[in-house]
This record gives sequence, structure tokens and C-alpha cells, in this order.
Amino acid sequence: MKIHEYQAKEILASFGVPVPKGISTTTVEGAVKAAEELQAEGTSLFVVKAQIHAGGRGKGRTKKNNAKGVILCKSVEEVQQAAESLLDDVLVTIQTGPSGQLVQRLYVTDGVDIEKEFYLGILLDRAVSKNVIMVSTEGGVEIEQVAEETPEKIIKAWVEPGMPLQVNQARMLAFSLGLEGAALKKGIQFILGIYNAFLKTDADMMEINPLILTPDQEIMALDAKVTFDGNALYRHTDIAELRDESEEDPFELEAQKYNLNYIKLDGNVGCMVNGAGLAMATMDIIKLSGGEPANFLDVGGGANVETVKNGFRIILDDPNVKAILINIFGGIVRCDRVANGVIEAVKDPEIAEKVTNVPIIVRLQGTNAAEAKEIIDNSDLNVISAVLLKEAADEVSKVLA
Ligand code: ADP
Ligand code: MG
Repeated sequence: MKIHEYQAKEILASFGVPVPKGISTTTVEGAVKAAEELQAEGTSLFVVKAQIHAGGRGKGRTKKNNAKGVILCKSVEEVQQAAESLLDDVLVTIQTGPSGQLVQRLYVTDGVDIEKEFYLGILLDRAVSKNVIMVSTEGGVEIEQVAEETPEKIIKAWVEPGMPLQVNQARMLAFSLGLEGAALKKGIQFILGIYNAFLKTDADMMEINPLILTPDQEIMALDAKVTFDGNALYRHTDIAELRDESEEDPFELEAQKYNLNYIKLDGNVGCMVNGAGLAMATMDIIKLSGGEPANFLDVGGGANVETVKNGFRIILDDPNVKAILINIFGGIVRCDRVANGVIEAVKDPEIAEKVTNVPIIVRLQGTNAAEAKEIIDNSDLNVISAVLLKEAADEVSKVLA
């Protein structure tokens, strides 16, 4: 689960990790009030930051006003102008894709003097089944580019599972950033603190870019990108409440309501499959047959009439879909039951109307596959049955041609 920068910073601060002061708001008036409050506490330089679930804001631009997603302001008036230029506009960054993300919330924060910008990231290194902490002196810029071109500039430490981060590891990391004296101590404290936050909150990623050193030798997180392990949210009700559904893909939200694993893609062939592995193979087959998958959809083990119907609804909501490939392996679930489910779902008036121009290719293999094929072939609906995956793929090419 993703959260906003301002929420991530509140969590980090609660673990003693230093962040600049800031106030979040959804209105221009709120931004002005926030700036006045910060000013009363001594702030003279402000930064207004669009809160969207995507990074790259500093280099991004809004569609209407061509405003940057991170705006430096020298006065309350400038904060007001920045807020006006950002709110209700759509911010396009390298991470949002061309459609961008509507800005509905801002973070008005202390503008901080920067002496050096670093990078820090924590995530699970799946190759060795250990959490890895990565730091780099090359902060602020695209870390992917650093990883690609100068991987030696990313220093890593792996943490033994079940153990806290060792102080000597934190020291090695902080030292590799070239920190000395008081700043080195603060760097070590920062790294120990953020790793503790990572563990205690069941985060699956924390990325601080930039982590900065100020001229006063303070270390703090100027940006914070944090995501949590969805499977652990049941033990963090406070974190679960931070979810902002307005930032999420409406198709994927709908699918979650039905307990379907759905990921929207850009292609034209909708697919409905049981099992993630088979779903991946099906997407490959669609590509081989000259189509592009419109989605990943794993309907899970028990594909019944309801799941098939819900799957259709979600797939058909996507106007790009020109054909649907259903590829179900009948292991626990019997193919004849799925076939009946498909027929029944296609007869549903709401679905029937939408599938008139969308051919459905069904491949059912496994228990009672022959009966299932008979049911599909004997129905007078716009449903084509296939036995082999290759046949299914050929049918897809035919209908796309
Ligand atoms: P993003 O990664 O989405 O572009 P950041 O929060 O990293 O957004 O901000 C982009 C850049 O803006 C930072 O690299 C930093 O140089 C500057 N910046 C961000 N917040 C502040 C701040 N509070 N004070 C001073 N500069 C900031
Ligand atoms: Mg950043």
C-alpha cells in the first residue's frame, strides 16, 4: 500500500527520524494558513509540494498551469500562488505516465538549506532473502541511472533476518556518505531510526531521496516514499487508515472489492485466468498471437458464476478491450461448472450488451474439459471454444485481424 509523502514523514518523525516541519492541506486557504503557522515558528522559506502517489514531482509539470510539482516560495503570497497553480491541476511526472495524477492535496513545508544530497533506500533483497539498506552520495538524481552507470556508488548492507541493524553496519553506511564528526553520529542515528521504523511498520519499501546534510550539519529526510506490505496491514490499523483510494486505479479498486487479482494494462485483449502463473503464460501467448494484454486477471482457485461475472464486468469496463480470452485450468474447480458460469454470465443483460462486439475465446482444460467444450459449442452465444493454448491464440489473432 502506498501513502503520501506527508504521511510517511509523520511516521518517520514518530520514530525519531528527522524531517522538516510541514503541514498538509487540500485548499488554497489551508496552504496560506499553513505558511502563516510555519512563519510564526520562524520559517522564511517555504516549499509547496504536490501530494500524489508518485515521485519525480520536482521535474514534473502540471497540464493546465505548467507548474512544477515542488515549488520553492519566499513568501506567504508565493505559497498562495503555488497552491493555486497546483490544486485541481493534473501533474505529469516520469512515474505517473502521460495521463498524470490529479493534485488534491499539498504539503507546505520548511525550505531547508542543502549542503549535500544523498540517497537512502530500504527494501527486501529477494535474491538473498534479507532486507538491504542502500545509500549513495549521488542523491537527488535518478537513482536508477546511478545503479545502471556507476553501481559502485551505491553502498549496501544486508541485515540478518530476526536481528536488528547492527550499529557497525549503520556506521559503515554513514561513513560511506563521507560524513564526519557530529554529522556522522547523526547519520548513524538516522539509519538506525529509519530501519527500526521499516521493521516496526512492516514497510516493504522506504526511499529517502534526497537525504540531506544541512550547513548546520543536520541530517534529515527531504523526501520520503514509503510503501507497506498489504498482507501485514491487519496488524497496523492506524497505517491501513492512511490509504487514499482516490490515488488508486479505479479498475483495480473495483477488482479488490470482488477479491480478484487484477492489474490494468494498455492492450486490447482482456484475459481471465485462474492462477498467476497461467495468467502470465496467457499474457505471453496473447503477445505471440499479435495482441497486447489489456489486463492481468487471476480469478483464483474457485472460478464460479459470480467470479466469472465480476471478471467480465471489470474487463468490459475497459473500452480498449477488443476480445476476451478465458483460460481456466480445472483442477479443484470443474471445467463444466466454469463453462456453465461463462454461459450464464454472458446471458446477464448488463454483460450481454457489452459483449455483442467482443468475441470471447474460452479454453478450459482439466477435469471434465470435454463436457465443458460441449457446453460452450452447443450454446448459441458469441463464445468460441479452444482446446489447446495455441488454438486459443490463433482464435485471438483471427478476431483481431
Ligand atoms: P520528487 O522526488 O517527487 O521530485 P522531492 O521531495 O525529492 O520530490 O523534491 C524534489 C527536489 O526539491 C529535491 O531534490 C530537493 O532538491 C528540493 N526540495 C524538496 N523539499 C525541499 C525542502 N523542504 N527544502 C528545500 N528543498 C527541497
Ligand atoms: Mg525525491
